[in-house]
Amino acid sequence: MSLGRLCIDTEEESDLVSTASLNTQKSDEIFAAAQHLMPGGVSSPVRAFKSVGGQPIVFDRVKGARAWDVDGNEYIDYVGTWGPAICGHAHPDVLQALAAALEKGTSFGAPCALENVLAEMVIQAVPSVEMVRFVNSGTEACMAVLRLMRAYTQREKVIKFAGCYHGHADMFLVQAGSGVATLGLPDSPGVPKSATQNTLAAPYNDLEAVKALFAEHPGEIAGVILEPVVGNSGFVTPDAGFLEGLREITQEQGALLVFDEVMTGFRIAYGGAQAKFNVIPDLTTLGKVIGGGLPVGAYGGRREIMEMVAPAGPMYQAGTLSGNPLAMTAGIKTLELLQKPGTYEQLERITRKLIDGLLQAGRDAGHELYGGNISAMFGMFFQAGPVHSYDDAKKSDLEKFSRFHRAMLERGIYLAPSQFEAGFTSLAHSDEDVEQTISAAREAFAVI
Ligand SMILES: *Cc1c(COP(=O)(O)O)cnc(C)c1O
Repeated sequence: MSLGRLCIDTEEESDLVSTASLNTQKSDEIFAAAQHLMPGGVSSPVRAFKSVGGQPIVFDRVKGARAWDVDGNEYIDYVGTWGPAICGHAHPDVLQALAAALEKGTSFGAPCALENVLAEMVIQAVPSVEMVRFVNSGTEACMAVLRLMRAYTQREKVIKFAGCYHGHADMFLVQAGSGVATLGLPDSPGVPKSATQNTLAAPYNDLEAVKALFAEHPGEIAGVILEPVVGNSGFVTPDAGFLEGLREITQEQGALLVFDEVMTGFRIAYGGAQAKFNVIPDLTTLGKVIGGGLPVGAYGGRREIMEMVAPAGPMYQAGTLSGNPLAMTAGIKTLELLQKPGTYEQLERITRKLIDGLLQAGRDAGHELYGGNISAMFGMFFQAGPVHSYDDAKKSDLEKFSRFHRAMLERGIYLAPSQFEAGFTSLAHSDEDVEQTISAAREAFAVI
């Protein structure tokens, strides 16, 4: 089939801001008011643009690869609501399915056939998942999976990696990436020592450090949780042998291996990182893409482990809105769209074209850059690299990144407002979008 068919036609003619000035009067007014109403004016910290300076842009609507702000400025969007919009924002098929589902009500609080449909799709796609439990966010999925790791192994300690983000639950706010990295909070006040005393942290891509922790705490470690490809300290890939090594060590130690695929699931491959790298964890967390833009998370794994979860087993975990029919509908439609042949080839091609173009433009202008992509996930550090860990990522020129971010924004390109976040493309990003982005970047690299 023609790859072009996978791209969603953008009906609106592009009228991107071509000059380096942006009228953001309404955005500024709304954000100023928001700061009196909500802490920092936002519902999630990174949105406030604190790490790049300047005022955040208040969105009015999104469609395909584009976002429009309340002042009428148009952007090519590489945040994609932080991952879910892999088919493009407000895909007509998703909207249509949602409209039909809406007629039947917004929440049941009772079993719903749509849960079976999405569960089967997830089980079929993700190699480690034989049974799945739906929740409402990635945070919830990670909280629950940690409880399950502990319940199953009857051990309390867990190993995570510096710069990996597993949501905002107490136990994971140790050397976490994402907003915690962005704001430079070493930890968070309000997290008691008792909540993190069983959380051990190792540098990413460091198998020796993991072995040392197991040696130090024999028989006490329930398992290892990680982002199999990191998106929350910027885009960091696993070194050859790292995932395989973790699989071996955990097996030897009677501990569980958990892939947090909230970001990578259905993004870097239909079956996630575990399918891409052919390393099968015991448990997996999901979110973002599987909700198709509505609030969904999930955790799953081997049947024998999952059957510990209530009401099949004794490990309690519940949710009033879990398995919500609208969220299930958006997830099912999104996965159906991703199943079309050629999807991941197209995502890889367009994203590679983007990142190669950005790196080339920057290097032509004399900047040191290090970056790459896997499928529809990419990143670019303002440093020569290589970047194998969060400590490496922190060596980036953050001020230069901030100037670049602003210069791109002024040219109608919306990038994640932090050096420590990955970028996301979608099936709606066209060759023209990417070319426009690269020429904006050439201008931006020249002025920063
Ligand atoms: C986004 C993310 C989470 C948290 O998901 P929320 O839905 O924001 O709670 C957890 N883990 C990873 C890897 C993520 O990228």
